Amino acid sequence: MVGRALTKVRDGLLLLSYPEQCRVCDAMVESWDDGVVCARCWTDPSITETFFSKPLCAKCGVPLLRAPASRALSDERAEQESEGFDCGLCAELPYMHARACGAYGGALEASALFLKSRPYLCRRLRVALAQTFSENRETLASDVIIPVPLHRLRQKERGFNQAAVIAKAISRNFKIPLDTGTLLRTKPTERHRAGMDRIDRTRSVGDAFEVARPRLIAGGRVLLVDDIYTTGSTITACSKALVEAGAEGVNVLTIARAVYISR
Ligand SMILES: [Zn+2]
Ligand SMILES: [Zn+2]
Repeated sequence: MVGRALTKVRDGLLLLSYPEQCRVCDAMVESWDDGVVCARCWTDPSITETFFSKPLCAKCGVPLLRAPASRALSDERAEQESEGFDCGLCAELPYMHARACGAYGGALEASALFLKSRPYLCRRLRVALAQTFSENRETLASDVIIPVPLHRLRQKERGFNQAAVIAKAISRNFKIPLDTGTLLRTKPTERHRAGMDRIDRTRSVGDAFEVARPRLIAGGRVLLVDDIYTTGSTITACSKALVEAGAEGVNVLTIARAVYISR
């Protein structure tokens, strides 16, 4: 009872002192638990359904809009066998598996953008991350969690690393050690210019990362955590650096994933 009463007071204060409009639809956000997005937008099926009701590529986690023709299966079987699906485009990528809470858009996009300005994960987002990790626990099983690092100047300017905020939450929840000192971004990245394509971006981050203490990751599996999986160039560069430094493999978890592929 006391807990509920406090929640009401806190939500009341939130509305009084910081009237917050949903950053997706402009309705009022009624609960602190929802962060900067209203409850209705959090349950918008377009955010999560693509990721949970369709078969995913077993490796990169992209939702396959329909099962490959050779494996046209009933929905139920498709779900059971989604382990075997393959988007056909990710074989070369240097990580083992990547998963995300949902597609980049709506509530996840607004919350990920807000996380760049404040080191705070609202309850909805913490739950979505925990659920995504739990549902993919075997696929993502790792010995240590490493957030995609910011360059130290960038981190100083921002005051925190948003990927580390996510990594900390997963680490605490699932008791996996967190390491924020081994993978470093040695080159400050230019702010991504609009119009930069995948190849440009890959070139700009390709050698931006360094493993400072390879001994700490040698022979182990790393869960690499970031806020958004866009073109995959940053994730690829980090995974490559970790594998070259001796990691047995890299798994990837992000809040949201931009979806370009359909087939
Ligand atoms: Zn809304
Ligand atoms: Zn794939």
